[in-house]
Amino acid sequence: MRSRLFAIRFMAVVLCMSLCTAQFVLPVRVYADEDDDDDEDSSDSSSSEIDELKRQIEETKAAKQKANETKSALASGMASVQQIIGSLQTEKNNVVTYVATLDAAMEQIQDDLNSIDTAISENRIQINEAEQAIERAQEALDEAEAVRQAQYDSIKGQIRFMYTTEKNTFLSLIFTSKSIADMLNRTQYISMIMNYDERKLEEYAKTVEAAEEAKQLLEESKAKLDEKEQELEAKLEEQKSKEYDMATLISAKEAEIGQYNAEIGSKEMQVAEYKKMIAEQDAEIAAIEAALRKQQAALAEANKRVYGGGQFVWPAPSYTRISDDYGMRLHPTLGVQMMHNGVDMAAPSGSPILAAADGQVIAASYSSSMGNYIMIDHGSDLITIYMHASALNVSVGQEVSAGDRIGSVGSTGRSTGPHLHFGVRKNGAYVSPWSYLK
Ligand SMILES: [Zn+2]
Repeated sequence: MRSRLFAIRFMAVVLCMSLCTAQFVLPVRVYADEDDDDDEDSSDSSSSEIDELKRQIEETKAAKQKANETKSALASGMASVQQIIGSLQTEKNNVVTYVATLDAAMEQIQDDLNSIDTAISENRIQINEAEQAIERAQEALDEAEAVRQAQYDSIKGQIRFMYTTEKNTFLSLIFTSKSIADMLNRTQYISMIMNYDERKLEEYAKTVEAAEEAKQLLEESKAKLDEKEQELEAKLEEQKSKEYDMATLISAKEAEIGQYNAEIGSKEMQVAEYKKMIAEQDAEIAAIEAALRKQQAALAEANKRVYGGGQFVWPAPSYTRISDDYGMRLHPTLGVQMMHNGVDMAAPSGSPILAAADGQVIAASYSSSMGNYIMIDHGSDLITIYMHASALNVSVGQEVSAGDRIGSVGSTGRSTGPHLHFGVRKNGAYVSPWSYLK
């Protein structure tokens, strides 16, 4: 193939020599005599290195994915534990709120207990006062009873004296009377005495009665106080049993809160453990990513195209002449000197455009000035540009070899007739294509 191309080019050069001025005479292309076997060997060894790098990168990517999967498993495990903590917290808060209401109820019960205690103490004081009053009433009663008894005894004595010891006194009083008047006086006197004693006796009996009544009233009121005390004691007992029940309930709930705290504590330890493991996983992922970056850099380095040197394949084998050369020229319409950054090769429309060297297509597109154009990266910062094509045969990313047909000559874009504008860029700037074509 190369020799055929060479022949075509040689013929073209000869043709050109006959058609073009000496300025445009193309020297015979001296082929870079690369050993095909060596070339293949070196490409084999580099491609096996690249394959190894690619395999390593795939492995690292798989490891990274696995580490990420582990991390998300840990994260979801942690999330579910955190969810459990959340619901435990909610349940605990409910119990805490309930305990607060129990505490309030307990306070009420204890307030009630205190007021019952106070009421009992006050009642006791009243009972004591009543007892003392009863005691005093009893003393008064005893005294009254004693006075009455004394009176009674005295009257009894007088009567007994009159009827026994001085049995005839009454009669003698009557019969020894000097006159009726005297007798009446005497009986009246006796009657007066008798009446007096009787009145006294009645009076004393009334005093006793009053004392008894007073005592009885006091006893009745004390009985009421006793009754009240019993009621209060019953209430106190009731309230104490309520207090006991409430205390039991509160301590049970507090134990529940304690259990919740313990559970939450252990779950939080789990979360901490998860966090630690996730952090470790993050470190592992970071290490894997660093390794991956290194491997990718190594691959990029291995992939880095290096221009092998040597002369370009003539890109427009059907060319008839150089219609416009690289360099400063007078602009046809503006009349000023302008830089022409490529070589225009007049060629029949539809004739082949060939890749000047091995490389990768980095542009295959259309612009209003360049028409259909192609750019090929040959490595070592060397790029070739092909413009005004009627058709493009390659696409971006495609690897091409020197001499591969990449398009057809045309007159698209800013062009006055079918030709290939061939440009070369080295290190980011246009250079004369002749440096590579000669
Ligand atoms: Zn041009």
